[in-house]
Order: sequence, then structure tokens, then C-alpha cells
Amino acid sequence: MKRATPSEREIQRRSQYLAGQRSLPIVGITAPSVEQPALEQGNIKTGTSGKHIGRVLVWNLPTLRTCPGASDWCAANCYNGDTSGEVVFNRPQWYANERHAREDPDALGRTILRQLADEAEGATPPIVAVRVHSSGDFFSEPYVFMWRDIAHAAPRHLFWAYTRSWAIPELLPSLDTLRQMPNFQLFASVDHTMSDPPAGWRLSRVKDPRSSESEQGAAQGESRPKVRQIACPEEYRDGIDCAKCRFCLLPRKGDVIFNVH
Ligand code: SF4
Repeated sequence: MKRATPSEREIQRRSQYLAGQRSLPIVGITAPSVEQPALEQGNIKTGTSGKHIGRVLVWNLPTLRTCPGASDWCAANCYNGDTSGEVVFNRPQWYANERHAREDPDALGRTILRQLADEAEGATPPIVAVRVHSSGDFFSEPYVFMWRDIAHAAPRHLFWAYTRSWAIPELLPSLDTLRQMPNFQLFASVDHTMSDPPAGWRLSRVKDPRSSESEQGAAQGESRPKVRQIACPEEYRDGIDCAKCRFCLLPRKGDVIFNVH
């Protein structure tokens, strides 16, 4: 594996950081140094471009407080709470994104579409893939519909996301409309403390080697029909990233397994 399982000490630090995030005021008080919302360039996992994808972008929101479906396990282990300093997060940008997403999702949708068009113009091929929420999650119905409308307005571009908001009954109907979009691949994300999502969803499962076999079994998807399932190759093979792999970006049937890191 390229990335180690976090130590108990690191998990304690993440828990403290994430608890602080959760209790921050919703918007306006954090006085972000960044004002404008923006998609970031692809990261080490997503890659930045590939043979079939001219540009990879990432959209982020602040960790946990925009994640209504987060489990207690998430609230301790989320890698976006990493305190080791090995990863540099652009958190001021995430706060700006959150503020715009809460205040005016329609205007934010137009801003995102403009950035997509600009990025596509300079890309070869002129196709942009957007990882939605390397940090953060779908927190409201208007915000889910914003992404549905973006996907509808940008049919040649690809979008993918892993969400735990499926566990929030009020958000499930809007998420179901989002995952019907042919260019938006939406996975139900689970860990071993969660139940299986409703039928029909692609699943992304986070494995925690510190949990017991029986605990892991809780999220094995045993109640689900058997579908293709792959271990994310980026986690154990050099030279591969999402732009090259594309398993999660394309409308194939299949689930993906990640390791906690
Ligand atoms: S399975 Fe492929 S597309 Fe999905 S996260 Fe891993 S590298 Fe990216």
C-alpha cells in the first residue's frame, strides 16, 4: 500500500480537529482569506489529465460539517482531518466554496460551469472530469440539484462522487435524481459501522484493517446482488490515478474498495 493506516495517535488528533470543524459556525464567521469559489486542479490520487480526459478538477467543501451522513467512524478517521502535515489542504478555498454553496447555489452553479468551459478550452481532449468532494459531502437538496443541473448543462464532461448522505432520508430522493445523470457517477460510501445503502447504488467501501472480520462483514454488501468489485488500483500500483483508471468515472456496473489511510 502506498499510504499507511493512521496510528492511534493520529486518529486521536484527527478526532479533535474534526470535532472542532463540526462545531464551527455554519458560515460567515470564519472570515476566509479566499472569497471566490473555485474548483481545484486534480491531486495526486485523481491525476491531472489522461489519454481520454484533458483535465481533472476537484471540488471541495469543509470536512465533516458539510457531511450530514458521516458515521462516528468517519468523524474520527476522515483523511481530510489529517494532522501529519504530509498533505497540504487548501482549506480557505473550501470555506469560500461552502459559503457560496449555502448562500446561492444557482449562482455557484453558473460559476462552476464557466470554470469548466474555460478549463475545457485549454485541454486536449476538451473533456473535464470533476471529482466532487475529495472533502465534504452533499448537505442540502438545493445543493444536490445544483450538481444535477451542472451535469445536465455539461453533458460531455464527467463527474464522480462518493457520498454518505444517502443515509439521510430527506436527501435520498434528490441524490437518486443525481445518480440518474449519465455523466455523474455517484457511489454510496460505507464503512463497517454502516448498513448497506438502498438497492441500485454503486458502492464504495472503506476497509479498516483494525476492525474485526465480523465487523468488516457488516459492510460486505452481502445483502446486495453480486456485482464486479475492484480494489482501487491507485492505492497499490505506481503510475496509476483516476484519470488513467476511470473505473469510477464511467457508467459501468461495479463497486470499489478503499483502505483507510
Ligand atoms: S478505482 Fe480508479 S477511478 Fe476509482 S478512485 Fe481508484 S483509481 Fe480512481
